[in-house]
Amino acid sequence: MIHHGKKAVVIGSGAGGLATAVRLRRKGFEVTVFEAGSRPGGKATSIEKDGFFFGFGPSLFTFPQLLDDLFILCGKNPADYYSYSRIDPVCNYFYPDGIRLSAFADKEKFARELEDKTGEPSQNVLRHLKNIGEVYHLTKDIFLYNSVHKLKTYLNTGTLEALFKLSKIGINQSMIEANRRQFKTDHVIQLFNRYATYNGSDPYLAPSTLNVIAHPEYNEGGYFLSGGMPDLSKNLHRLAVEMGVNFRFESRVTEIQLKGEKVCGVKLGEESVPADIVVSNMDVQYVYRELLKNHLPGHRALKEPLSTSAMIFYWGIRGSFPELDLHNIFFSSDYRKEFDHLTRLKTIADDATVYVFISSKMNPSHAPEGCENWFTLINVPSDSGQDWSQLREKARQSILRRLSDSLGTDIQPLIISETVNDPVTICRQTLSYSGALYGSSSNNKYAAFLRHPNFLSEVGNLYFTGGSVHPGGGIPLCLLSAKIVDEIIG
Ligand code: FAD
Repeated sequence: MIHHGKKAVVIGSGAGGLATAVRLRRKGFEVTVFEAGSRPGGKATSIEKDGFFFGFGPSLFTFPQLLDDLFILCGKNPADYYSYSRIDPVCNYFYPDGIRLSAFADKEKFARELEDKTGEPSQNVLRHLKNIGEVYHLTKDIFLYNSVHKLKTYLNTGTLEALFKLSKIGINQSMIEANRRQFKTDHVIQLFNRYATYNGSDPYLAPSTLNVIAHPEYNEGGYFLSGGMPDLSKNLHRLAVEMGVNFRFESRVTEIQLKGEKVCGVKLGEESVPADIVVSNMDVQYVYRELLKNHLPGHRALKEPLSTSAMIFYWGIRGSFPELDLHNIFFSSDYRKEFDHLTRLKTIADDATVYVFISSKMNPSHAPEGCENWFTLINVPSDSGQDWSQLREKARQSILRRLSDSLGTDIQPLIISETVNDPVTICRQTLSYSGALYGSSSNNKYAAFLRHPNFLSEVGNLYFTGGSVHPGGGIPLCLLSAKIVDEIIG
């Protein structure tokens, strides 16, 4: 309890904020979390409508041990809070030419499936999975488990050796270039290019090291939290409350206060709340645009291009589709055109790749009997003033066309409940700048170094956690950002 009695404020109760609050409390801080919304979770919250239950955003659960570790660290048994199971297949893929295949959890079986369905030699697939496993183990300590902005991270020979090897394994080529060398079939190239979208990037620009994003799914496993991803927020919140963290909902922090070169508290309108340390879990763009605007001019990280956003149709569907599983991808016919629309033209292509996540396949309580809950998503650019009501209608028609063609059934009449989110509503509900899902994109080879650090050398006692800062977006990385902040505070 080295920080016993000191006051910590956490701004935001997303996954990163909740995990940081728990860790600070464990260190002895008196912790208060201020959350602008009415409940915890940020993007990992839920939508309930007409008897259907949906996760607002995240659907795929990987690296469950990071969540378990946090509970164990606090002396709790994770099994008393939540349960999860490994999924198999991890995902079903539907191509426009009629090819369908499953990404089985067993690597050999998956590679055989790709060979049988697409003609891609299975050894190419197995070699790729082995390569990305090696890249993951080579890079994780530098890029995921530590701050890339602290000298300490580089002060061992292992790190320097890893950086040297990294430069040899293709940091200078894009994902598409590496995957074209690795695979001979367009189907498999498209399948592995898809992983760039996991952090809102473009496989035609992102460095080949981003192929590592497929590592957890294939080499470690994809999982399903029995209550869906909102279970993660619910249980982190419960743990935080049990540890003695205070929460104030519907409480938007309006300013971070400084005394000299150190943080001394926050303001919520006229109310001042003193604090010894402040941790921001909010989108870092708004920290500078609003909370620090009287103190700091900005940060170079804010100049990086934003990650993509999403258009999501939360559909309650009458009927059930045995050919669909938990995670389903319906690929577009022209991936390059799709990304050209997203990255350069800042709009959506006529034919976009559709992701359908159906948690009621694993948890039937998420939909009324005889129905399924379809979380149907396409990638869209972040908001830069597009006409979203027009794009929403365009997306709706193109998704319905794609799904109806592939499944051989008219989907429109089966929709009995609908909620829609687009970049503007995502921004409004989660205060994510321009609706970008993962802060900045990783469309250049220096992106990992250009993300906002978890601390500021100019301002003492101010820290940053969550998907818009290092190490990046996605639940596991948010949990790791909390761990990094914990270690920096010491
Ligand atoms: P956020 O979730 O961004 O929450 C920040 C919180 O801060 C919000 O609650 C907000 O209200 C609050 N806040 C902001 N400003 C203030 C203020 N001034 N005062 C008080 N409170 C404030 N990840 C995966 O791992 N797997 C997936 O499959 C996946 N799919 C996704 C699909 C979608 C559609 C979306 C939206 C995200 C997805 N993600 C996925 C990403 C993942 O959800 C995020 O990376 C993660 O939830 C972000 O957590 P965070 O800690 O950054 O906080």
